Amino acid sequence: MDYLAEKYFRIRKTPSTACSGCGLGQTQKMLTKAIDDLDLGIEDVIWATSIGCSGRQTFAMWKGDGLAATHGRIYAMMSGLTLSLPPGKKIVCTVGDGDAFGIGLQHLLNAARRNVDATVVVCDNLGYQSTGGQYSWTTPEGSVTDSSPYGMYEPNWIQDGRDILNIIREAGATFLARHMSMDGEYGLESMRKALQNRGFSLVHVIFPCITNYASTALGTRNTVNMFRWIKSRARRMDETPDKDTIWRTGVYFDASNSRPDYASVIKGKVKDIDRRSLVK
Ligand code: SF4
Repeated sequence: MDYLAEKYFRIRKTPSTACSGCGLGQTQKMLTKAIDDLDLGIEDVIWATSIGCSGRQTFAMWKGDGLAATHGRIYAMMSGLTLSLPPGKKIVCTVGDGDAFGIGLQHLLNAARRNVDATVVVCDNLGYQSTGGQYSWTTPEGSVTDSSPYGMYEPNWIQDGRDILNIIREAGATFLARHMSMDGEYGLESMRKALQNRGFSLVHVIFPCITNYASTALGTRNTVNMFRWIKSRARRMDETPDKDTIWRTGVYFDASNSRPDYASVIKGKVKDIDRRSLVK
């Protein structure tokens, strides 16, 4: 078993039940390695999860404390939880593109607005894959899926000048990055930065779904083909994009530790109210 899995994951949850060749494990590993690099132990991290492939594979995987909720409720739960946590505890949250950028987006934006101290990792498999492969808010233009047999026709959150990270930035997030699951050290560096921000961090990770997206949209179940396909459509922020570029990777916005997180604001307010009632 991988040394990180042995150290941090419950034995009964490893290996995960993800399909062979799925890139979700790379995403989890990137996050777990960043946790390890920062010398955080099991007791220092609370791992939150949601629904879909990413929720199913990460629920109850962490040896320490965890929580789960579906369709965006996890961001509200995390916001409340930060009020009761002692300093130094970290909340990490692995969710899918449907939960974060679709069904649960309103909740996510409010967590960003409040600058809730948590790191959200959006594991993007380019559609609703746990339900068989329907298109989602991040499915690339023209992709053939179960629900778009003639090609993805709806505007998505990532092309034609739209970028969901712009909206989350405007909402108040203090750290944002985007990566492919195979970005290695480049992605790991962003994960570490995300964890070091005392405030709302989000890392959007594109990973290959072999079973549904690759087979329907690309006509292959060959893992390497899908890895290459994603790679050929991603460009680092410091590179020039070309006509095929869908994703720009790297740190998108970094205002780490620039404003107080939600729990600090609320706790300060409570102290202030207490002082005022003593004066009366
Ligand atoms: S359906 Fe796709 S995203 Fe879900 S576990 Fe299988 S390969 Fe991964």
